[in-house]
Amino acid sequence: GIAQIGVTGLAVMGRNLARNFARNGFTVAVHNRSWEKTASLVAEHGDEGTFVPSESVADFVASLERPRKVVVMVKAGAATDAVIDELVPFLEEGDIVVDAGNAHFPDTVRRENALRAQGLHFVGSGVSGGEEGALLGPSIMPGGTRESYASLGPILETIAAKVDGVPCCTYVGPDGAGHFVKMVHNGIEYADMQLIAEAYDLLKQGLGASAAEIGEIFAEWNTGDLESFLIEITADVLQHVDAATGSAFVDVVLDQAEQKGTGRWTVQNGLDLGVPITGIAEATFARALSGGVAQREAARGVLPAATTPWEVTDRDAFVEDVRLALYASKVVAYSQGFDQIAAASEQFGWDIDRGAMARIWRGGCIIRARFLNRITEAYERAPHLPLLLADEYFAGAVGNGVAAWRRIVAGAALHGVPTPAFSSSLAYYDGVRAERLPAALIQAQRDFFGAHTYRRTDRDGSFHTLWSGDRTEQDA
Ligand code: NDP
Repeated sequence: GIAQIGVTGLAVMGRNLARNFARNGFTVAVHNRSWEKTASLVAEHGDEGTFVPSESVADFVASLERPRKVVVMVKAGAATDAVIDELVPFLEEGDIVVDAGNAHFPDTVRRENALRAQGLHFVGSGVSGGEEGALLGPSIMPGGTRESYASLGPILETIAAKVDGVPCCTYVGPDGAGHFVKMVHNGIEYADMQLIAEAYDLLKQGLGASAAEIGEIFAEWNTGDLESFLIEITADVLQHVDAATGSAFVDVVLDQAEQKGTGRWTVQNGLDLGVPITGIAEATFARALSGGVAQREAARGVLPAATTPWEVTDRDAFVEDVRLALYASKVVAYSQGFDQIAAASEQFGWDIDRGAMARIWRGGCIIRARFLNRITEAYERAPHLPLLLADEYFAGAVGNGVAAWRRIVAGAALHGVPTPAFSSSLAYYDGVRAERLPAALIQAQRDFFGAHTYRRTDRDGSFHTLWSGDRTEQDA
């Protein structure tokens, strides 16, 4: 074989990844279940580099240098299993199969186990950045063995996005670690989008500002600490005018958010691990609420608001308050996401370097942002930091905005503006910093009705009170 890397599955994503490899000077073996996609790739883009097309899986595998590196980029789920089953009989010990699709991490753990038992390396790799990222440089999150990364890593690092010359690709950890990190990335993306949407709504309802005016505010914000791809495109979207009606585009879009399911996976896993990822959960539920047409119709005009209109007098001060509240809420959402990565890393023995994850999200992906440098720095200062929010920089930045954050959340509540992500992030902030929580009462209740026992503040041990008897306390 002569090809250094192969790609099977040549729909939008696979085609663009193959072109990215070829444009970077790699000889790329290409294959697709149906021949037309392979033929059209070579016909349309053959001049961009060296492609070695094959019609059969046998020829495709034979065209690769050993150890073979095959990137599978097909529909996630059963299709991925079907393609792996077809490939494996032709592969030999030490060959590497990379699943670059959007697999759910437990599937990746299962596939890695099965292939390892056959002497093959299986690399479940998160790839972020959509079609454009795949072609011009995605953020790549590969899992699997360190041994496979030694030969595969340099190729992936070559095609990944670069920020300050540093590739947005690094080894993540064993088996499902890469797809797990990609999943949390998507969950954080949900939270970030919801927070931006709430900020937009606050500016709209508080100031009565037009979409275009709010777009200008976001464009201004994009020159500071909030600078990010999502803020940038928000400014752009808000200034876009609908050609058919002449209205602001955002005003003619139906207000029902859809989802493909990665937010749901992230929230389900947060529950499994017992990590409070309230920002991601509220964002996922906010999409569900928006899509609950029957419930919204039943409520509209029936549930009283009992509010007065929001009449903001100092426009600039209000805009700055919203900006500070957005930044603080965003820090909470990211802090929670990194907690989830830490918990999974511990649970599955993945040893994930969180600072490195923030580094490879700086380019190529949807949540790319200036702010990620700060996260990398925080984990460089303290690799085992128990709470990102408590890092000296973030504690300072959020502390600086906390009064503004309270004004905004209180104002939203008083004037009936729904801010689930802003509000729950502030509640998290107050919960996690509290000297004493009402959890003590929960424990007492649990002991009362279920003899679940409790611990005391003044001595070690577990205790139970005989609630239905003489109420003496026993060692449990
Ligand atoms: P699709 O998810 O639409 O999948 C189409 C490809 O899968 C085609 O090449 C198709 O072959 C192949 N395929 C489907 N079923 C089978 C099967 N049973 N056996 C063999 N091949 C099969 O392609 P996309 O390019 O949109 O996405 C590819 C992957 O990337 C997915 O996992 C998706 O979730 C992920 N993705 C990631 C994005 C990102 O930003 N990271 C964005 C979009 C997608 P055929 O041509 O013969 O039908």
